[in-house]
Amino acid sequence: MVGKRSSNASQIAINIFFIIVSICFVYPILLLISISLSDMGSIVTNGYRLIPERFSLQAYRYVFAAPDRLITGYKVTILTTVLGTSISLLITSLLAYALSKRDYVFRSKLSFFVLFTMLFNGGMVPWYMLITNYLHLKNKIWVLILPYLVNAWNVIMLRTFFQQIPQEMTEAVNGCVGGVWTAGLLSCILDVEGKGGLMAEIKNKLDKENATTPRPRGHKYNFLYDAEKMKALVERMCLDAGVDILLYSRVVDVICEQKIVKGVIVENVDGRKAYLGEIIIDCTGNGDVAAFAGCSFDIGHPETGQMQPASLQSIVVGVPKEFRFMETYEEKRNFYTYLREHGIETTGKTPTIAQMPYGETYIFTINHEIGVRFDSASDISMASIRARQELDSVFTALKKVKGWENLQLVKSAAHVGIREGRRINGLYKLTIQDITNGRKFDDAICLVRFAVDIHALDKKATHGYGNEGVLVKPYNIPYRSLVAIDKENLGLAGRCISGDFYAHASYRVTGDSVPTEEAIGYAATIAIKNKCKLSEVDGLLVSQEMKLRGYEI
Ligand SMILES: Cc1cc2nc3c(=O)[nH]c(=O)nc-3n(C[C@H](O)[C@H](O)[C@H](O)COP(=O)(O)OP(=O)(O)OC[C@H]3O[C@@H](n4cnc5c(N)ncnc54)[C@H](O)[C@@H]3O)c2cc1C
Repeated sequence: MVGKRSSNASQIAINIFFIIVSICFVYPILLLISISLSDMGSIVTNGYRLIPERFSLQAYRYVFAAPDRLITGYKVTILTTVLGTSISLLITSLLAYALSKRDYVFRSKLSFFVLFTMLFNGGMVPWYMLITNYLHLKNKIWVLILPYLVNAWNVIMLRTFFQQIPQEMTEAVNGCVGGVWTAGLLSCILDVEGKGGLMAEIKNKLDKENATTPRPRGHKYNFLYDAEKMKALVERMCLDAGVDILLYSRVVDVICEQKIVKGVIVENVDGRKAYLGEIIIDCTGNGDVAAFAGCSFDIGHPETGQMQPASLQSIVVGVPKEFRFMETYEEKRNFYTYLREHGIETTGKTPTIAQMPYGETYIFTINHEIGVRFDSASDISMASIRARQELDSVFTALKKVKGWENLQLVKSAAHVGIREGRRINGLYKLTIQDITNGRKFDDAICLVRFAVDIHALDKKATHGYGNEGVLVKPYNIPYRSLVAIDKENLGLAGRCISGDFYAHASYRVTGDSVPTEEAIGYAATIAIKNKCKLSEVDGLLVSQEMKLRGYEI
């Protein structure tokens, strides 16, 4: 109550202050109008009055008797205002933009030049000589425009504004951006229903290029896409948005000062470099950045610690008609049985084929690399090698089966796809209770419909994937799950956001990863603008923005 009363009092004080300021501005104008309507004699005798003593239109008669002077005056005013402001804005912003770029070669020299003119003035006589003798602007309309085009103070204000626009930078280990979407040849986006914003934009752009196919049974939740088109598209979108991209670059460490991540250390062909940022967002899937920063996290199944298997995606041609699309669990199991009947054993117990949007090409997923640690280079290397060997042996054997003679492996993914890494602890951890109860949050960033999807955790498992009996009701991801609890300026996006094993098994798919990236990106711009921590960004505001962008909440 005390807080409310004192805020009312300060509101009244602010209102009174601005009323007085407004009067100070309005009073001279009213006085001017009043004088123009006053009789000359009464002004001479009694001085200026707000209410005219004797009313007279004499002043107006005088002015309108020869309107040419008035018209010329207004012409000059309008011309210098419109033309001067437009050209000045253009030139000032061009200069300010260049000065806002830290990597601009002449930045410091130009900045000095601008600042110098602000602090030291040449004086009136040199100014006059410059205008008349050198620029020859005497008695020309340009004398009212050209000398005032660049004002050092305005340049500095605009430069500061440009500097506040966050410059985004993205590093990718692979030779393309997009992660499992592109380098991993994922080719299928799950849980797209009710997703607007970037997700809808990407889908629309791919549609226009005929680079998508709906699931043949009209599944509105998912669609298949051409991974090569996706590569080109997401890179184009990043460049258009002004994102600096570094491919073949790995974050190997971070620079931390207490609860702030000052920057990341990146290794690539340039060697080792540090990149600083006000807000850092961990989009590494496995939560590498957060782990380097010493954030707390969970991994694996709550009872056994086991993690979901890795898989190597591949693209093939020459698939017989009757095997061209598998969607249900039964269809995949039937294919598994069919392969076994022909003496072919796959590590994945639910091998899958789906048609791509182009030509007669198909995405093939047949393997499960179980027990692979996402944070072990040798585990990942051996998993990739084993998976590639498996693809080779399965295709060699399958080609010998009647109807499969034209089967050809076109390519395998650049790296094995990791389903599960670290789940970084955030301000809120999504739980099994949240997803089974269909929990809604005020700071929701999207609605997840996707089921719990746990691929075989154990080599002895006889099924391909399942849900351990955990049934999902559509639920929200809250903004707080995207904010690392241990660091003030570290955001989380994609599958490393804060949640338990079962929640992760549902929200980890790409239709839900995209809104996490969009939401935390938006929150980062607010935090930078307001110079506040990510935890201080209003989650309601983020939620409203996501709604505005078309995400179902
Ligand atoms: C085999 C497989 C099949 C799947 N099937 C589907 C499916 O059909 N549909 C679906 O929607 N989802 C599917 N998923 C899930 C989905 O692909 C992922 O959960 C999703 O891609 C998560 O996105 P992300 O951006 O968090 O991580 P990722 O896609 O893994 O992207 C992480 C990015 O960070 C980069 N990176 C990692 N570490 C570093 C570092 N230290 N420094 C710099 N960069 C780094 C990587 O190179 C990559 O570009 C599948 C996953 C797998 C593994």
